[in-house]
Amino acid sequence: MNRVWLFLLLPIVFTGCQTAPGTGRSQLLMVSNSEVSTMASTEFAKMKKLPNDPRLAKVKKIGLAIVTVARKEDKNKILPPANLWEFAIIDDKSPNAFAMPGGKIGFNVGMFAYAPTDDDIAVILGHEVAHVLNQHSNERISQGLLVAAGALIVDEATKNKSAHTRQAWMTGFGLGAQFGVLLPFSREHESESDHLGLIFMARAGYNPEAAPAFWGRFSKAAGTKPPEFFSTHPADETRIKQLNSWMPEAKAQMPKVVKPVQ
Ligand SMILES: [Zn+2]
Repeated sequence: MNRVWLFLLLPIVFTGCQTAPGTGRSQLLMVSNSEVSTMASTEFAKMKKLPNDPRLAKVKKIGLAIVTVARKEDKNKILPPANLWEFAIIDDKSPNAFAMPGGKIGFNVGMFAYAPTDDDIAVILGHEVAHVLNQHSNERISQGLLVAAGALIVDEATKNKSAHTRQAWMTGFGLGAQFGVLLPFSREHESESDHLGLIFMARAGYNPEAAPAFWGRFSKAAGTKPPEFFSTHPADETRIKQLNSWMPEAKAQMPKVVKPVQ
């Protein structure tokens, strides 16, 4: 039985290998981008949003500034045009924020306590948009589906197939809380997103110094029970050291004009 599954999977694995933009790293992408976007859209639609929250305009403004500069690096046309992106304040007190493939950005009400300034919000959105540009969700979903395919063999007795598949998708989006799965993004994904995110926020006119400060604050605040965002994005010394090492490069790319009004 195991061997049969392996033969079924191998062609998918081989056709699914691509190269990550920027780094040239080899990626396993088994799912089409339109599938990822459709799934993201379905999940986004289910979330409880606060369309009248006065902070929505601010998140949208910062998000659009980031998306606009990120699209200039988007040779594979992964990011939708700025006017097609949707932004929402999510009615959820847990501190979390995300950007989903296909152009959805969500910012939980609980995240504002941890991100009081525009620069802080730009740190988070720059990082999240970089995850989308690098197709990290697709990569995580693909890895998850491989695990799910393995689990199917076990699950034939329990009829639990869809739960594993859905878990793979949600983990891909960094949104596994409802399944009790908060798999951290890999160090590689985090470094790629930190670096690009830092450049994007600087080019959009936000102060990149906010990035090591933000992650440093949260590595302390997280304590023994880290909130969702910091479970999927663990902050540590390496992250902060790397961010500081990229600081001169990022600062050199800030526009000469004054940064946007806070
Ligand atoms: Zn991340």
